[in-house]
Amino acid sequence: MKGIAGAALGLCLAATAAQAADPYDEYLARAKAAAAFDFTGTLVRVCVAPQTAPGPDVAPPPPPARDTWYTDPAKVFDNLYFVGTKIHSSWALTTSAGIILIDTLYDYASEEAIVGGLTKLGLDPASVKYVIVSHGHLDHVGGAKLMQDRGARLIMGGPDWDMIEQSVNRFPNGKPKRDIVASDGQKVTLGDTTVMIVATPGHTPGTLSLIFAVKDQGKPLTVAYSGGTAFNFPNDVPHFDTYIASQRKMAKAAADAGATVLMSNHSEFDNAVTKIRMMAARKAGEPHPFDIGADAVARYFTVTDECAQLARFKLLQAEAK
Ligand SMILES: [Zn+2]
Repeated sequence: MKGIAGAALGLCLAATAAQAADPYDEYLARAKAAAAFDFTGTLVRVCVAPQTAPGPDVAPPPPPARDTWYTDPAKVFDNLYFVGTKIHSSWALTTSAGIILIDTLYDYASEEAIVGGLTKLGLDPASVKYVIVSHGHLDHVGGAKLMQDRGARLIMGGPDWDMIEQSVNRFPNGKPKRDIVASDGQKVTLGDTTVMIVATPGHTPGTLSLIFAVKDQGKPLTVAYSGGTAFNFPNDVPHFDTYIASQRKMAKAAADAGATVLMSNHSEFDNAVTKIRMMAARKAGEPHPFDIGADAVARYFTVTDECAQLARFKLLQAEAK
């Protein structure tokens, strides 16, 4: 028995050694180790089941049933409120001079989740002065026109403004009008609060990531907000090079700022909705569920970096054949 088990173990080790020599497995192993239990959704999306092309310019499908997306709005930090859905995030950063809103969901959810959500939380939707849209895909820009019509200024990356203007079919209810074009390193200041924009092209050419401060029961914390994650861009080596460079740029910006909170615009990537529900069970002295530490913030960007390198490697392999 011992001999058989030993032989089996030997085979197993040999197989592991052979696999470890394959760069494909090395990228995946590094991504898995970085994801740990914190970023399983991100790992699955970009390493296991990556998308490979942008969607066609067609009209959006009919809205899904409300119970598939609706979730209650919530106060998450002293100055940051969740007004998103089960799937997508929209955040209201309150300042001494009004609200900076980050991302605007799909059109169908925006009025109830954002305008209704702010009202439910005791905040005035008319006090939204700026809306920063991380990128021009419909699941984040859907409510931008609504907020613009209600008087807010919109901030988006130039190429994504172009993308919206060039779309023929995606905006049956009207498009937001080009307003402020974001620049790399731009500081959006409202009252006592500043959001720093980090241009991170890749997911879309104009994707914006953000660095800003929040307070947890008075304790200041820094948030790194990743503006685009999935690979639904033209899958070629130059696009992956751009994406990878942006992941590294944002990882550095997050580390330089001392960010210990990682946020994304999909709950799939940052577990926002689950963490909000966990907050109800938080006991005095326990860390905030979003305060995961600088090491975990860095690991998020390792996942996206390694998975993009893996996809790039596969492209090069296919080209070599
Ligand atoms: Zn997107």
